[in-house]
Amino acid sequence: MRLSLHFGVITTHMNDLGPSPVARGDKQVTVRQARQRLGETLHAVTGVEVLPLHQTMGRILAADVLSPINVPAHDNSAMDGYAFDGQALRPNEPLILQTHDHTVLAGKPWPQAVSTGHGVRIMTGAVMPQGADTVVPLELCTVQGQQVVIAAGTVRPGENRRRAGEDLSAGSVALRAGRLLRAADVGLMASLGYTQVAVRTRLRVALFSTGDEVMAPGEALREGSIYDSNRYSLGAALQRLPVEVLDLGLVPDDPQALREVMRQAADQADAVLTSGGVSAGDADYTRDILAAMGEVDFWKVAMRPGRPFAFGALRGSQDHTAWLFALPGNPVAALVTFYILARDGLLQLAGAHAVETPTLRVRSAEAIRKRPGRTEYQRGILQRAADGQWEVRIAGSQGAGILRSMSEAQVLVVLDHEQGSVAAGELVEVLLLDGLA
Ligand code: AMP
Ligand code: MG
Repeated sequence: MRLSLHFGVITTHMNDLGPSPVARGDKQVTVRQARQRLGETLHAVTGVEVLPLHQTMGRILAADVLSPINVPAHDNSAMDGYAFDGQALRPNEPLILQTHDHTVLAGKPWPQAVSTGHGVRIMTGAVMPQGADTVVPLELCTVQGQQVVIAAGTVRPGENRRRAGEDLSAGSVALRAGRLLRAADVGLMASLGYTQVAVRTRLRVALFSTGDEVMAPGEALREGSIYDSNRYSLGAALQRLPVEVLDLGLVPDDPQALREVMRQAADQADAVLTSGGVSAGDADYTRDILAAMGEVDFWKVAMRPGRPFAFGALRGSQDHTAWLFALPGNPVAALVTFYILARDGLLQLAGAHAVETPTLRVRSAEAIRKRPGRTEYQRGILQRAADGQWEVRIAGSQGAGILRSMSEAQVLVVLDHEQGSVAAGELVEVLLLDGLA
């Protein structure tokens, strides 16, 4: 067995992994080790471009976005109500205010001051007038002619006023470089007055499938063949990332063809995503080709589905390097290894800072069999139990090739490396596919 210096811990309990399907001693790694290695190795390779704000959704910020202003810019009312001086409030006593004959509207600051013993009608978002620091909401006071009656204990001094700079003070960082922008972020930048922002250019990702038996949908299926689903599922998953996909199609199990497409991918792309061809017998010539093109490690990741995975740097013709992520061919294994191993790696190459995908703990509706010594990702469906709580059940057959149960799944139930079987009713970790998928 070839021992790796990259990993602090070498997985030694190989029997847990069952008989090895890979001929030569590939690196035995846990999911955590694999992710750690990817995280340490990969750095941003993308450039910078300036885009109008409305084109930045899903892109990665290239530099910190500072707030040029206080947000909000002025003290303003959080409610429709009456603005007054909160000092006048007395515990256990109602307060009666005379009203000014005016309504302060948003965008129309009132140049006058609220007099002692007075209140002025004010709408949400309107600048707080001089002399007022508190707002009583309309529904919590009684208006009688020129008077407003505020019952004892209704409001405390300073309530229902938003302070200038309470969201962001001028000069503070509103969004950090490396952030994958979401809808609220785009709105936030607009609220600061920005019309354009520097984001990372899209990562160029070459994508292809391998296998003599794999055919493009649309063709009549030959005997013993299957349709290529991986290029479609992976291509679809890539659409959620700030990448530009270079579809290199289908490559037969032929060394010459594989060498050519690898070279083209290494020349034209920043990252190369493939499926199939890295398990058992396939890997032998794949290894030789990749060894000649760069430094690629073959890993046996202790995970299910998944396991064979190759990762490394491919040299293109002009000193250009592309990072290879070679995923297993089984359709569910390809998608799960994409989510667990490749996705974060691609985001890092694209310039995103690492964000851990959260898992939630949910009750398992059923017993789940699991062997310690590998991380399992089981397809799960959430359902509401009789007691109103959400629980998860396992979605049909868990074979690595069964895409239908992956399509039905809303979550991956994550059973960690050391964990054994789960009893019905126990809490398990679930990873929501929505957002990843
Ligand atoms: P491999 O990793 O090449 O040994 O493939 C493992 C299994 O996945 C085999 O049953 C292949 O037929 C299947 N497979 C490989 N590539 C694809 C693909 N692009 N679409 C669907 N199934 C595939
Ligand atoms: Mg194959």
